[in-house]
Amino acid sequence: MSRRTRERILVTGGAGFLGSHLCDRLLAAGAEVLCVDNFYTGDRDNIVHLLRHPRFELMRHDITFPLYVEVDRIYNLACPASPVHYQNDPVQTLKTCVHGAINMLGLAKRLRVPILQASTSEVYGDPAVHPQPEDYRGHVNPIGPRACYDEGKRCAETLFSDYHRQHRVPVKIARIFNTYGPRMAADDGRVVSNFVVQALRHEAITLYGDGTQTRAFCYVDDLVEGLIRLMATPDDFTGPVNLGNPAEITVEELARRIVALTDSHSAIEYRPLPADDPVQRCPDIRLAQTTLNWSPRIDLDAGLRETVCDFCERLDVDPPATLRMPARSRGRRPAARSAV
Ligand code: NAD
Ligand code: UDP
Repeated sequence: MSRRTRERILVTGGAGFLGSHLCDRLLAAGAEVLCVDNFYTGDRDNIVHLLRHPRFELMRHDITFPLYVEVDRIYNLACPASPVHYQNDPVQTLKTCVHGAINMLGLAKRLRVPILQASTSEVYGDPAVHPQPEDYRGHVNPIGPRACYDEGKRCAETLFSDYHRQHRVPVKIARIFNTYGPRMAADDGRVVSNFVVQALRHEAITLYGDGTQTRAFCYVDDLVEGLIRLMATPDDFTGPVNLGNPAEITVEELARRIVALTDSHSAIEYRPLPADDPVQRCPDIRLAQTTLNWSPRIDLDAGLRETVCDFCERLDVDPPATLRMPARSRGRRPAARSAV
């Protein structure tokens, strides 16, 4: 692809967990990638293998401030995603969701380019409808500890919808359900990373509540494929589209699977359930299946194996005998499976 025909793609939050995998995929498909991140929760280690790549550029920038660059597409992923991190500075979380969305939408409007928003299943709150289809409007506490994220992301969806209606900006809204995989931060407090790290260190597994709450976990490669397919839809298709793996599991069952997979001596320790923790969550993905021809392909056991091996490398822990080490995920460039 020549320099003139090559697409230049902005990924905000590109040094984070999902963003770094998306940068990998876009580069593998031949694009130029501008990664913008303020390193609030991101890590240089996630993108260190890209820093010398001729089509990769890193810019340290906080999207709550305007950004003037020239690009052909925008993926807006910048935002802390784990409850521990987004509740640590809730005002900054809201600013990132709302001011950040306004700034990135303003950029898309000036450039007349498509922009994809990484929204979340948290817009459904503690859902009364199960599994959650896109037309379910949610059950969110607007003043609780999760509201900075839930309501921030809901407001961002409103902004994306209004920029589309009012200014004809081609927008895409992805509602991402719990996603896991290599490069999750060891200390970000999400359930998969917490349990894997605790199990590998033979420390107590911190199970919140009685463990009967459910989630459905999507492997990162599947999720990135869904984002790329959503971005490739015609300009008048906005979504929102649920992206997640509908294989629902209780959090207690997840703990038991991770303990078994890691051959760990860890015991389960029950802790209080955080406020407003959703009781159940599972995506209805029929819209993604029909409009994107997308379904997740990697089951939980296979995805957890990759995740455990990645943590073994990063924590310098011997992998359990039952696990074969895959190719190093940090330097790995996953093969492109679809056009950018
Ligand atoms: P992450 O915390 O690993 O990545 C977020 C990235 O955004 C980090 O690199 C962080 O430094 C950066 N960032 C935060 N605030 C910023 C700001 N103001 N300006 C510039 N950069 C900023 O989280 P993730 O899991 O990779 O999530 C990425 C996106 O996907 C988020 O928008 C999140 O809400 C959404 N999402 C993720 C999940 C999931 O399960 N991983 C689920 C639903 C939605
Ligand atoms: N959880 C847990 N132990 C932990 C971390 C999380 O039991 O160490 C539970 C948490 O209470 C929630 C589920 O796991 O019910 C998923 O939590 P996570 O923070 O990963 O994501 P979210 O709540 O946003 O889905």
